Order: sequence, then C-alpha cells, then structure tokens
Amino acid sequence: EVQKAQREAARNRVSPTSPTIFSRIIDKTLPADIIYEDEKCLAFRDVNPQAPVHFLVIPRIPIARISHVNASDTELLGHLLVTANSLAHKEGLADGYRLVINDGRHGAQSVYHLHLHVIGGRQMGWPPG
Ligand code: C5P
Repeated sequence: EVQKAQREAARNRVSPTSPTIFSRIIDKTLPADIIYEDEKCLAFRDVNPQAPVHFLVIPRIPIARISHVNASDTELLGHLLVTANSLAHKEGLADGYRLVINDGRHGAQSVYHLHLHVIGGRQMGWPPG
C-alpha cells in the first residue's frame, strides 16, 4: 500500500511542463532575488509584483501543483507555511498579508512548480478575481 502511494506520488510529480523556470531558479542558472533558502525550500521576490511586498516560497522538489500533494508531503507543506509566515514578519507585514496558491486552469496557475504567493503592504480586497 505504501509503495503504491509512493509510485503515485512520483507519477504526479512529473508534470508535462516539468522542468519549469523555477527549477532554473533553484539550480541558480536563472537569476532571481532570493530572500531565503534552506534544505527544503527557497523564497524569492516575484518579478511581477502585485503589491509592495510579493514573494514566492517554493519547495526544492518539483511538486507540480497543490492538487498533487499527498500525506507524505505533510511536513514539507507545514514547513512552507511556517517559512512564509516568518518571512512575512521579516518583510514588515505586521498588519497582515495574503497567502495564495493557484492551482491548475481554473486557479490561473501559470508555473507548474508549487509556489505560495505572499502578498502584502497594501489593503487587499475580497473576493479575489
Ligand atoms: O500562481 P502562478 O503560477 O500564476 O504564479 C507564477 C508567478 O511566478 C507569477 O506571479 C510570476 O510573476 C512569477 N514569476 C517569477 N519569476 C519568473 C517567472 C515567473 O517571479 N522567472
């Protein structure tokens, strides 16, 4: 059962568009304004910021999208959230911020390497577009 789940996870990680541009940011063949990195993840400023502060937190392993995660990713996903929050505080977002994960076509995902958007420094609206 465990092996079956692992095989499925491995399959899900092979996106038709993999490797993405974010793989090149991870391996440093494409420059990015990296604000944090550790053994599991990396954070860098979005090239097309939607607010005064806008950065992305991505796992080093190429999970294509949030709808592809499974129970074996629980610890990594927690790490991404905790990292996003601690960087938000470092970036001065004491009045709050928005965390966004776009998934697939309806979610308007454009890069098929999982990423958390951390957006702040201005008042957000709701509902999102
Ligand atoms: O959630 P979605 O897939 O649409 O977001 C991808 C994000 O990656 C965009 O906000 C885009 O500006 C950003 N990007 C980037 N650096 C690149 C390519 C895309 O920050 N080299």
